[in-house]
Amino acid sequence: MRLLLVEDDPMIGASVQRGLKQEGYSVDWVRDGAAAEGALADGVHELILLDLGLPRKSGLELLAALRRRGVATPVLVITARDSVADRVKGLDAGADDYLVKPFDLDELSARVRALLRRQGGRASPVLDVGPLSLDPAVHAVTLDGAPVALSKREFSLLHALMKQPGVPLSRAQIEESLYGWGEEIESNAVEVHIHALRRKIGAERIRNVRGVGYMVPAEP
Ligand code: CA
Repeated sequence: MRLLLVEDDPMIGASVQRGLKQEGYSVDWVRDGAAAEGALADGVHELILLDLGLPRKSGLELLAALRRRGVATPVLVITARDSVADRVKGLDAGADDYLVKPFDLDELSARVRALLRRQGGRASPVLDVGPLSLDPAVHAVTLDGAPVALSKREFSLLHALMKQPGVPLSRAQIEESLYGWGEEIESNAVEVHIHALRRKIGAERIRNVRGVGYMVPAEP
């Protein structure tokens, strides 16, 4: 799952990126408003972490422009400005949540999970497909109730597939959801992860749709 981090402070940016990567997200980091605009044009990010005080274009301007264009990607504003007026402005401009610096990384991850869950329109964060159950909040997968140990990439891959059972994802879509910019992708990386996943959860649970990609078959 790919997130976009817009933050000009090198220390905060690095620690947020590191922290969220440890949680298994791919985090693309840009350091000013103009670069953020470019990054957002791709539309590959599932959530945006947005600082308000930014060079070249303020976070508020960026957010307002995004919402005017009808982009509904959840935005978590992270900012040092803790005055009520700024919070109200941020929320009015279309922010989904607000976190004031300095903040705890655990709290940040919890809010990121909550927003991603809300975006999916699910009251319950747990995804169930047949005997498979995946809980993004605790990064846990069970098969017939028994825990399955997955690597971070395997987990992200299964998460992407289980979000849309019965809908095949192309290899490019899978790569896009698993890897951030500049991350080295081996040419057969997706196949390797699929192979490992199948070994752990059963080959029949991930179907290869010839010429299209991979899917988790929907179960009645
Ligand atoms: Ca700043």
